[in-house]
Amino acid sequence: MNQFDVIIIGGGPGGLTAGLYSMRAALKTIMFEKGVFGGQMTLTDTIENYPGFVEINGFDLSQKFAEHAQKFGLQTIHKEITAIQPGTDWHKIIIENKETYEAKAIIIATGGKSRALNIPGEKEFYGKGVSYCATCDGFFFRNKTVAVIGGGDTAVEEALYLGKLAEKVYLIHRRDELRASTILQNRVKEDPKIDIIWNHIPIQVNHDADRVSGLTIKHVQSNETQNLTVDGVFIFVGYAPNTELLPKEIEMTPDGYVKVNNTCQTSIPGIYAIGDVRKNYAKQIILAAADGCIAALHAAQYIETL
Ligand code: NAP
Repeated sequence: MNQFDVIIIGGGPGGLTAGLYSMRAALKTIMFEKGVFGGQMTLTDTIENYPGFVEINGFDLSQKFAEHAQKFGLQTIHKEITAIQPGTDWHKIIIENKETYEAKAIIIATGGKSRALNIPGEKEFYGKGVSYCATCDGFFFRNKTVAVIGGGDTAVEEALYLGKLAEKVYLIHRRDELRASTILQNRVKEDPKIDIIWNHIPIQVNHDADRVSGLTIKHVQSNETQNLTVDGVFIFVGYAPNTELLPKEIEMTPDGYVKVNNTCQTSIPGIYAIGDVRKNYAKQIILAAADGCIAALHAAQYIETL
C-alpha cells in the first residue's frame, strides 16, 4: 500500500524544508517533484537575501536544500500529480500513470510564476537585466536606470523600492491610469526618481552581448516607438499561483491564492499550502521555508491527534 503520514507536493524551498522537518519528526514522508529541486530559486542567478549565504547561485542553494532534506532520508518521486482527492482521515493523490498514494497530511508547495510579457529578449536576458523580483535583484541596479512594467500594486510597490536604489526608474503602463491603490499612486507620482510613461507597452528588450542595454516601447494609440536606455527591466504584469491541482473544496482568496490559517492549514483539515501558492505578505525563499517548517510541525501534531 502506498500509504504515508505526509505527502509533499513540490520540491522548492517550502517543500524541501517541510520534508526536512517531517523526516526529523519521524513521519513517513514522500515528496513529489516533477522537475528539478529548487522551483523558482533555480531561475535566479545570484541570491543575496537568504540568511547565512552572503551570495549564492540559485541552483547551488537549491542543491543545498535538497541535500539537507535527503540527509534525513527524504525520498522523492519525480512524477507529476494529476489530482488530489481529499478524504477524512486519509487524503489521496493520483499520479500520471493513475497510481494512487494516500497520506494523513498533504503539504501543497506548488509555488507560482510571474506572468511574462513574451516579448523578444525577455526570456533570453532573464537574470541578465530582466527580472521579476525587485527585492531579489534591485541591489544589482544601484545608481543605474531601470524600467518597471505594469500599473498594479506590485509594479508600483516595486518601482518605489527600486527608486531608493536606482538613479532613475521608468514606470511604463499601458493605460493613462494606474490600477494600484490610491496611496501607492500618490507616492509614486511624488517620487522625483520615478518617471511614469503612460499608454505604452514594451515590445522588445534590447541588449549587448551579455546584458540588457535598453527597452523599446510603443504608444498604444499612435504605435509610435521609442528606445529607452536602461540597465534593467522589471516586469510586474501579474502573478499566477500554481493552483490547477487544488481540489475545488479548498477555500481560496479572491485573487486566486490558497487561503490558510497561521499553521498553513487550508480549509480542509490535514491539507496544508505553503510558499507562493498561498496568500502571503511577500514572495521570498525565507518565507516559503518558514511555511514548510510550520506546516510539517503542525502536521506532526495533527497526525498525532487522529
Ligand atoms: P495586477 O493587479 O493584476 O496588475 C497587473 C498590471 O499589469 C496591471 O496594471 C495591468 O494593466 C498590467 N498588465 C497586465 N498584462 C500586461 C501586458 N501584457 N502588458 C503590459 N501591462 C500589462 O497584478 P499585481 O500588481 O501583481 O497584483 C496582484 C494582486 O495582489 C492584486 O489584487 C493586488 O491588489 C494585490 N497586491 C497587493 C499589494 C498590497 O496591498 N500591498 C501588493 C502587491 C499586490 P491594466 O491595469 O491595464 O490591466
